[in-house]
Amino acid sequence: QYKGPSFKKMADIRKSCLNPVLTTYYSKPLAVHQGHKQWLFDLDGKRYLDMFGGICTVSVGHSHPRISEAVNEQIRTLGHCSNVYYHPKIHEYAEKLASKLPDKLKVIYFVNSGSEANDLAVLLARSFTGKHNIVSFQNCYHGMTYQTMALTSNGYYKYPVMQNPGFFKTMNPDVYKGIWGGSHCREGPVQADRSCSCKIAECEAGQNYLNQFQEELKYEFPANGIAGIFAESIQGVGGVVQYPTNYIKGVYATVKASGGVFVSDEVQTGFGRTGDHFWGFESHDIEPDIVTMAKGIGNGFPLAAVATTAEVAQSLTKATHFNTFGGNPISSIVGLTVLNIIEEENLQENSKKVGTHLLLELEKLKEHSANVGDVRGQGLMIGVELVSDKATRAPLESSKFMTLWENCLEMGVILGKGGLHGNVLRIKPPMCITKEDADFTVEVLQLALNQL
Ligand code: PMP
Repeated sequence: QYKGPSFKKMADIRKSCLNPVLTTYYSKPLAVHQGHKQWLFDLDGKRYLDMFGGICTVSVGHSHPRISEAVNEQIRTLGHCSNVYYHPKIHEYAEKLASKLPDKLKVIYFVNSGSEANDLAVLLARSFTGKHNIVSFQNCYHGMTYQTMALTSNGYYKYPVMQNPGFFKTMNPDVYKGIWGGSHCREGPVQADRSCSCKIAECEAGQNYLNQFQEELKYEFPANGIAGIFAESIQGVGGVVQYPTNYIKGVYATVKASGGVFVSDEVQTGFGRTGDHFWGFESHDIEPDIVTMAKGIGNGFPLAAVATTAEVAQSLTKATHFNTFGGNPISSIVGLTVLNIIEEENLQENSKKVGTHLLLELEKLKEHSANVGDVRGQGLMIGVELVSDKATRAPLESSKFMTLWENCLEMGVILGKGGLHGNVLRIKPPMCITKEDADFTVEVLQLALNQL
């Protein structure tokens, strides 16, 4: 039974005391007060299937009892403790997290948010290489601190103030909307395991984008090259954008050859979400120099991290890098427990199994719907791009998208929204969802599409 402030009272407090552009997704904002596994409950007790999991934040399920117990126990023993002392949990956690990464990435910095992690990654890239310029992809999202706002490429999140210097964008290798997208392998037959069916040599789009990137490096940074490039393994906020096969591998090789570092932003794609691998970058067959992580790492707790090599970390010993809350005993026990739950509840395998089933069911929906232009993703990181015309791929009108989206909510399914035109349904549920939840989602989406 909910006993807190009324909806009206919360609306009033928002108006007077909170950030005036705090996004509330729905026209009548959804007010939730309880979560359990893959479900959220509103003030009246109505249950929703949370297929957005707070944007990949809730990885192992809402209010997981093992996390609550671990936090309780830790808070009773030792709560906050600055890292100027030894305390056991940060050590246990760092060792466990490092064991999940490639051997060369053994040094972990703990921070509190994805933006902070990317901010630190910028510093690491610049200190290590002695260079300044950083490249990221159009349509990317890497955070909202002053520096990461310049790294991010989405007008919705960019204020009209002078942006931090030294950040450049390269063309987004979007296989659905990009200029060379037509020849991408994903146009080929969909396989049951969602693997690519093309032969590398035929993947023209990837090569075209890579040529373009290499030319850009040559002409834009002839003297000094770049400090590094940032890439999400699959773009999240940008609308679940996947890149052509081998494109990232080519970019990685190019950047390394020019003396820069490769930074993988695993804030959304890490921790088993993509199913095939624990980290999204593994699908691109690369080993980045720096990996940033947040969201799913703490199942909703403010925890984030940066992993890098001993050599890169050495470059940050010229001054002291300090973070008051980073890796405190409570966040460390949360992170450690999340890793144990992912392993013991086989959540990566579940992402693969349920995610693949969901992708294939959505693909069937696409065949029969005039408005489903593209279904893409990997594991439980899925995007459904809604269009008004399949031939031109023009985005579905915003009013229609909103109607469909709100109708899904009304029927009990929470979906995310993203993409530059806000016309991509983002499906990123807690990794504990079942096949039945996936089927229910498709059924609801089908009904909502029919209602259009
Ligand atoms: N990187 C990516 C890929 C993200 O999706 C986000 C958040 N949407 C961030 C970084 C920033 O994380 P935070 O909001 O925790 O600062």
